[in-house]
Amino acid sequence: MITTFATPKFIADHMLGSLARWLRMIGYDTVYDKTLDDGAIANLARSEGRFVLTRDKELAKEPGAFFVEADDIDSQLKAVATKFGLKYNDERIRCSTCNGDLHDLPKEQAQSSVPEGAFAANDKFWKCDKCGKMYWKGTHWLGIMERLKRLSLT
Ligand SMILES: [Zn+2]
Repeated sequence: MITTFATPKFIADHMLGSLARWLRMIGYDTVYDKTLDDGAIANLARSEGRFVLTRDKELAKEPGAFFVEADDIDSQLKAVATKFGLKYNDERIRCSTCNGDLHDLPKEQAQSSVPEGAFAANDKFWKCDKCGKMYWKGTHWLGIMERLKRLSLT
């Protein structure tokens, strides 16, 4: 997938796992790795041009870092989206589990790896390049979209 300077990339600290998953879902490359300490997060941010998202006041001193003040996911997501001008982008959805790219999977190839009901009810499927997780826009997707609309991210 093409990354431009207009599309910010992030690295979230160990406190921000939910936020990282949501940023991936709306289309932003976000590293979240609990094994990284503050120094490693800062290094990776610099070498890969990522913005640090953190609840740690020290780490927030990094150039380009954003201090996430809110506790709840709605407010966190809204704050980051406002700060960096983020919008949900259907073409850029990433794997919420591992941050991998998703690719379209022809319906017939999805049959063996998704539940029967999901297969019957959907025509479009995606698979993560990295971890193999399957995605489809099932009923849970309506809830996701409602949340994004409520936060003015669509
Ligand atoms: Zn994945």
